[in-house]
Amino acid sequence: MHLEGYDCLGMSATAYGLACLELEASDSGIRSLVSVQGSLAMFAIHRWGREEQKQQWLPNMAAGEAIGCFGLTEPDHGSDPASMRTRARRDGDDWVLDGRKMWITNGAVADVAVVWAQTDEGIRGFVVPTDTPGFSANTIKHKMSLRASVTSELVLDGVRLPADAVFPEVIGLKGPLSCLNEARYGIVWGAMGAARSSLEAAIDYSKERKPIGGFQLTQAKLADMELEYVKGVLLALHLGRRKDAGTVRPEQISLGKLNNVREAMEICRTARTILGANGISLEYPVIRHANNLESVLTYEGTVEMHTLVVGQALTGLPAFR
Ligand SMILES: Cc1cc2nc3c(=O)[nH]c(=O)nc-3n(C[C@H](O)[C@H](O)[C@H](O)COP(=O)(O)OP(=O)(O)OC[C@H]3O[C@@H](n4cnc5c(N)ncnc54)[C@H](O)[C@@H]3O)c2cc1C
Repeated sequence: MHLEGYDCLGMSATAYGLACLELEASDSGIRSLVSVQGSLAMFAIHRWGREEQKQQWLPNMAAGEAIGCFGLTEPDHGSDPASMRTRARRDGDDWVLDGRKMWITNGAVADVAVVWAQTDEGIRGFVVPTDTPGFSANTIKHKMSLRASVTSELVLDGVRLPADAVFPEVIGLKGPLSCLNEARYGIVWGAMGAARSSLEAAIDYSKERKPIGGFQLTQAKLADMELEYVKGVLLALHLGRRKDAGTVRPEQISLGKLNNVREAMEICRTARTILGANGISLEYPVIRHANNLESVLTYEGTVEMHTLVVGQALTGLPAFR
């Protein structure tokens, strides 16, 4: 909804953020599907793709008729994507891709995968229709978090692509990081949706089950949850307005993701205590949101990586190694 042209709605970053909040108030898995579709797969094609790639995929993806995924993480390389082992080599005019991607949202239901791979020139992005021979996706089972979202392993076994499957201009981590920045922005808002849903459940419960809401300690918990929720939404709104003005910086989005996911988790955990034993039941949304946020804390950059981004912005010293 925030992209321009190709049947996309061209709405503001702030409006998109609010939609992420409402979707995640339902379930982080639903917001994840939307983030990967719009902010990772579609954004990558929109920002870095050839005109023909945009025409081929974006209108269908905007209509939800084609689903996209974004393959960056590998079994042995997550926070350090520069070390990825998936390789794309030239064979005549064609490209041939070999490797594996892990933890890929929408992977097994995707029609198109944006895959990042090492080449002789550096990391490059490829648009891979998922019916290309040699491409397969295996659903990752037994997740205790983000269960409403499909997460997959992608296997690339001699996937042969035409010369124009590659993004023409971007080489290096700038390509994938530009997309992650978009998705992280949606998370700044989205996490507050999970927090709001849990806070509302705790307020309702404490009023219904008398006298829990009348205890001072319960009210102190609710007041603290409300404070962090309101601060998180205001931070998201501020970043959204900066994004709409074209002035937001990546480290500011890191700061927002770090704070809002951490505080959303704390709100969910506190809500869980107010619900007592019912707090662990799926009859209430709280434990589901809390479990979902464990994934949100890790994907799109872990707490530690965003801490280091903020630390570098403050000191000028990179401490990633
Ligand atoms: C449900 C789900 C969906 C996902 N969807 C996608 C997707 O669609 N596409 C995609 O490409 N990926 C996806 N991911 C993967 C996600 O982005 C990675 O899991 C994440 O980047 C962390 O990588 P890792 O799991 O390999 O952990 P690692 O990088 O191995 O990190 C493990 C721990 O070490 C810490 N650490 C690592 N390096 C440093 C350092 N230099 N200094 C200090 N601490 C460090 C980390 O912060 C973390 O605490 C998804 C993950 C999940 C759980």
